[in-house]
Amino acid sequence: MSRLVSSGVGQGLLGALERVDDRRPNRVRVLTYHRAGSPESFEAQMRYLAEHTCPVSMQELVDALEGRRELPPRAVMVTFDDAYTDFAQVAWPALKRYGIPVTLFVPTGYPGGALPAFWWDRLSYALAHTTRRTPLDTPFGPLPLATPGERGQAFKRLTSYVKSLPHDEGMAFVEQIAGALHDGTPPCDVLGWDELRQLAAEGVTLGAHTRTHPLLTRVPLDVARREVVGSLEDLRREIGEVMPVFAYPAGAYNAEVVAILKEAGFRLAFTTIKGTNDLARLDPLRLRRINVKEDATVGTLRARLLLYTARLNGLRALPQAA
Ligand SMILES: [Zn+2]
Repeated sequence: MSRLVSSGVGQGLLGALERVDDRRPNRVRVLTYHRAGSPESFEAQMRYLAEHTCPVSMQELVDALEGRRELPPRAVMVTFDDAYTDFAQVAWPALKRYGIPVTLFVPTGYPGGALPAFWWDRLSYALAHTTRRTPLDTPFGPLPLATPGERGQAFKRLTSYVKSLPHDEGMAFVEQIAGALHDGTPPCDVLGWDELRQLAAEGVTLGAHTRTHPLLTRVPLDVARREVVGSLEDLRREIGEVMPVFAYPAGAYNAEVVAILKEAGFRLAFTTIKGTNDLARLDPLRLRRINVKEDATVGTLRARLLLYTARLNGLRALPQAA
């Protein structure tokens, strides 16, 4: 798709498809960003959203769900996960400039440097800095590390293996592998509470994203409950009143986790299942989102918005009890 959209034919096709795209109100596509990437790329994406879509806020979505307003056609909501520092440096200035509302999901154990870097950043850093070029033995076989391509592939294999393990076991494995690759550790690249308070005062909606970012399906239920409830308590203590909205770390949830959120009073929760949310038929604790990679081009952003129309939701059914 990306190669197609960069061609002249692709651009024409994309434009034609956009013109016949669903114009009905009360449907919202929610974009997920992690890092903003380069200011130029992010600015271009936000300009496109401001000129060609109707960006809406979390409050507008809640109001629409509760029947107090309609969402306009081509409604898009921008969200950021993990509260990386480049949100304040790159994303927020551009979002403000274009008047685009945004929600930032914060893993509340990280601000203030209480925890080391996220485990996937630790692995990525170790792979980027390792001088080892011979294969590394792992429980899933030898991991080739000779070329940049192999080290990129190693990152993907390691992260998917970590996600398959119980959380504590996964974190011990990260320590072991990262330690075998490289001595240093990356700094924790998450905004502090003062910066988060400032952003909230300027209009950024803050939402909960657990405390320590475990996959909630890979920890015991009492731990999942503490992570979920604790992150909302942390936000309320540090920020004041916040909306009870949540993003599942790495999109991982099951029926028990959803029940914990419901009991804790969360109003909306966001998965990583791709698609459009149709207000007439959505489950507010299993909302769909569309991931946008760092430094995406406007063409890729347009293609992703178009690919995940409500019409195509059936291709990616929402697991109810995964
Ligand atoms: Zn996250």
